[in-house]
Amino acid sequence: MSELPQIYDRALGAYLGLAIGDALGATVEFMTPREIRQRYGVHRDIVGGGWLKLPAGRVTDDTTMALALGDALVAGHRAGSGFDMERVAQAYVAWWRGKPVDCGNTCRRGIVRYLREGSLESPPSDGDGGNGALMRNLPAVLANLHDEAAMLAQSLAQARFTHHHPLSDAAVLCFARMTRALVLGHGPTPCAVLADALASAHPVFRWLPYPGRASGYVVDTVQTVLHHFFTHRDFETAQIATVNLGDDADTTGALVGMLAGAACGARA
Ligand code: MN
Ligand code: MN
Repeated sequence: MSELPQIYDRALGAYLGLAIGDALGATVEFMTPREIRQRYGVHRDIVGGGWLKLPAGRVTDDTTMALALGDALVAGHRAGSGFDMERVAQAYVAWWRGKPVDCGNTCRRGIVRYLREGSLESPPSDGDGGNGALMRNLPAVLANLHDEAAMLAQSLAQARFTHHHPLSDAAVLCFARMTRALVLGHGPTPCAVLADALASAHPVFRWLPYPGRASGYVVDTVQTVLHHFFTHRDFETAQIATVNLGDDADTTGALVGMLAGAACGARA
């Protein structure tokens, strides 16, 4: 069992890793690997730019939606009301009204549905297989390190606010369990078991041999992140290899950063 300062260091590592991957990857989001090579050689520095024309170091929706979720969880805890999905919904609305630099279509649709109908869960939809629920779930993990059942329930609730799809659900729950194991100091071995279980339950996620697609479809995202996390144990190498695939590079970068940052901790 890890000491509290080590758990804190790995939790911070996960969160900073998420933000770093987002800021690094945003520069090359929606580019092809060939375009990235021509423009940057190997893209390895946080220089901003990209299709969103960001200043260097600015993060995108991946990180800012996670921050909105985290604020809602902390506020609920402080108010003594515990997990309150209505509060989370309001936080996503406030995030959206704050004119974020980017907002995915499925996220926008979910927020608009809530504003119109007040419903906290999207109806199941084949179109909800994007990575938008997965990318922002870290705070639901960090808020529930002591209680896995609560972590899984809250992860699913926040996810289905915008994305209600069996593959999104499966990815969100698997990544929540993996991140929790890493932050608690259990190391990468239980993560490999959890990832294998995901691929057994849903063979579409099998990431070996790596198919090489890094799109915002949750299957492509998960394959890219798992392949790079398990191939490169070093934070920087994993990040750089991932974002140089382009496509949804801010999100694949963010998720690899989250896992690799949880594994090594913020100080490392
Ligand atoms: Mn983004
Ligand atoms: Mn993205």
